[in-house]
Amino acid sequence: MPMQAVRPKILGFISEQASAWLVALVVLLAGSALTVIVAWAAADLYQQQVRQRFQLLVNERYTRIQERFEDQEQRLGSLQRFFVNSGDVSRAEFDGFAQPLLLNARAYAWAPRIFREQRSLFEQDISRQRGVPFSIRELNTVGELARAAERDEYVPVLFSQTQSLLGSPLGFDLLAQPLRRSVLERAQHSGKLAVSQPMQLVGVEPAYAAGVLLVAPVSKVADTEPYGFVMAVISMRQLVADGLPRSNRDNLVMQIVDTSDTQQRVLYESSNAVGDSDLRAARRLVLGDHVYALSLRASEIFDKSNHSSMRAILAMGVLLSALLSALLYVLVSQRQRALKLVEQRTVQLRAREQELRGAHGQLRSVLNAATQVAIIATDLRGVINTFNAGAEQMLGLKAEEVLGHLTLESLHVGVELEARAGLLSLALGKRIPPSQAMLVESPDSQHEAREWTLVRKDGSQLTVNMLATVLLDDYGLWVGYLAIYLDVTQQKRAYEALAARDRLLKKLSAHVPGGIFQFTHEPQDNWRFIYASEGMRDIYEIELSVLQQDAGRVFERIHPLDAERVRASIRLSALQLSHWREEYRVQLPQRGLRWIRGEATPEELPGGGTLWHGYVSDISDLKRVEEELRALSITDSLTGIYNRRYFQDRLKGEVLRLNRNCGALSLIMLDIDHFKRINDQHGHGVGDAVLQELCKRIGQRVRRTDVFCRLGGEEFAVLCPNTDGTQAYSLATQLWQSLRDTSMEPVGIVTASFGVASWRIDEDIDGLLLRADSAVYVAKQAGRDRVEACGSGQALMPDGL
Ligand code: GH3
Ligand code: MG
Ligand code: MG
Repeated sequence: MPMQAVRPKILGFISEQASAWLVALVVLLAGSALTVIVAWAAADLYQQQVRQRFQLLVNERYTRIQERFEDQEQRLGSLQRFFVNSGDVSRAEFDGFAQPLLLNARAYAWAPRIFREQRSLFEQDISRQRGVPFSIRELNTVGELARAAERDEYVPVLFSQTQSLLGSPLGFDLLAQPLRRSVLERAQHSGKLAVSQPMQLVGVEPAYAAGVLLVAPVSKVADTEPYGFVMAVISMRQLVADGLPRSNRDNLVMQIVDTSDTQQRVLYESSNAVGDSDLRAARRLVLGDHVYALSLRASEIFDKSNHSSMRAILAMGVLLSALLSALLYVLVSQRQRALKLVEQRTVQLRAREQELRGAHGQLRSVLNAATQVAIIATDLRGVINTFNAGAEQMLGLKAEEVLGHLTLESLHVGVELEARAGLLSLALGKRIPPSQAMLVESPDSQHEAREWTLVRKDGSQLTVNMLATVLLDDYGLWVGYLAIYLDVTQQKRAYEALAARDRLLKKLSAHVPGGIFQFTHEPQDNWRFIYASEGMRDIYEIELSVLQQDAGRVFERIHPLDAERVRASIRLSALQLSHWREEYRVQLPQRGLRWIRGEATPEELPGGGTLWHGYVSDISDLKRVEEELRALSITDSLTGIYNRRYFQDRLKGEVLRLNRNCGALSLIMLDIDHFKRINDQHGHGVGDAVLQELCKRIGQRVRRTDVFCRLGGEEFAVLCPNTDGTQAYSLATQLWQSLRDTSMEPVGIVTASFGVASWRIDEDIDGLLLRADSAVYVAKQAGRDRVEACGSGQALMPDGL
């Protein structure tokens, strides 16, 4: 489905493309506006509630004060009735009645009307009753009570019951003061309760001094002139404020004004502060014949306790809006990021899908292109689900006949599977079914291909190499098996041919004396036997495996005197690609010293090394024969000493040496005297024995360095290296002596003639031989049996010692 078809909406109403900032701003503005509306509505409601609350407070306050006013009227009324009904009231009776009435009134008093003529009698009478001087008094100019001036009528306070600590202003004439006079007159004329104008009360604490007098006339008979007045002294503060909340807790600010007062003086005013609100109310209070205006306003306390929650609502609303907008910003931006990620991932997944399709197609092509390899995959039950072109070709089956129908087991030879399953069961210690035999590896195998026999559709069999692996899904769970088969029938034939060849080579090499080898010398001075036949082990007494790893071990066996020569010859052969042939000794642990002959033909390797094909053989026996032959060729067969050939070789060598380096060489030659005669007289055999005996004697006398040879017949020579003429002459004399000292039975004394010659510088061989021979000749001529030195003139005679 294309992406444009469905545009997801965040929270169901916000387009995913809307800017997170815009959403947050809109929400903030909307929230703020809603907050203002709610705050406005709440404020309106609040104002109503405040007004109602204020009205309730006002009504309650008004009712309470009006009740107090009425209560005062009733109390004074009861005192008035007490006087009317009692007739003459004593001071004690007044006190007894008025005392309980003292509530919210400063004082109750009784003031009779006294006329001018009654004054003195009245004062005397009272003075007498009280035991103290009594007079009717009035306030003088300085505000002190003083005896009242003469007037027609007085209304002095006679009885008084007061709460004041200042006591009662007894005798104070109420008519002396205009305000009091006015109220008395009004009471007298109306016959009812009358209330004074606001006044400063006399005999009352200053705090309570603002107040009124409530006066009731007392008549003996109704509707007649009163004979006195009962009055209540009312402190407005006491009456109104006592029992009310303290000023710092009072919700209302009160003001009481006497409406009849032309000056509109404030009779009472609360001390607490007026609040900011415009809440106010006015009520009429009636006390006696006066009407008071009670005005009430909300105090600061009221304002405080009923303060508007608008700010809080506004603050909360704005805060909530801000929080909501922040939340929305986070939500929207996260959602947008998530959607962007989803989009990116979708694109990536599509690309991956394309890649996978391509890879799948490639895989399919590879599977089908691999016509020489059978690739078969199965599910976990072994049912084939992939069967490539190679498998079709190998087994003669079509993929349609196989896929989903056949199992891997059905392609194998059952007997082979059963045998393998039996082996695996034993090795693993649990039962392996034949259907799993080709898939399970034995513990010792290293994931190697195994050889199996498969059955073609036509029933014929073929040998294959099989490699089985487990197929895993992305989570590493087994989902099936993959088997790869390689037809190895041809390969097997080739292997068999090779093996036959190998066997042949082994047999042949077993019959060849010595060993045959392939040997390489690589540029890094690495010697190695690529191939070494069994014979190589006997030649060097080194195991073949060791030889194949390190050819250097051979050099440990080669005699130290020959090793460097062999190495050099191998290097030379590699350098010149020349045929290598070398004879050398080896020192073997078991067979001791042996002679070896090696021959090999080099060829250059592509990498720069050299490869030799060759053989080595033990030539110790040959060497021994050679040695024997050589010994024979230089030995005289009759006497066993060196023969003439050896003599000549040595003489040649010695003369060559002398020509290179200076030194001495002497030659002693001897010829048996009259040997022919010995032969003639004793026979040839005795002659031979004489020859042998002579050689024995002389051989015992010559030095180790001297070379004793038979030159032929009965002629001998002694070659004396590093020997001068004198020394040689001395030796010849000893030899001559050794012959003639002892007889040789049956011949008797056998003598010989000796000639001595010493080598002269630049003399050749023939010269030396000639001189020695001449010396012998001279000795013969001189009578035989003597030693003659060439050039010395010396001769030893038999009797000339
Ligand atoms: P002269 O004192 O002058 O040397 O006399 P001669 O008889 O020794 O000298 P001549 O050279 O005439 O004789 C040498 C003889 O040695 C001749 C030969 O028969 C004999 N003769 C040579 N070789 C052998 C040999 O191998 N065995 C024996 N028994 N006799 C040999
Ligand atoms: Mg001779
Ligand atoms: Mg002789």
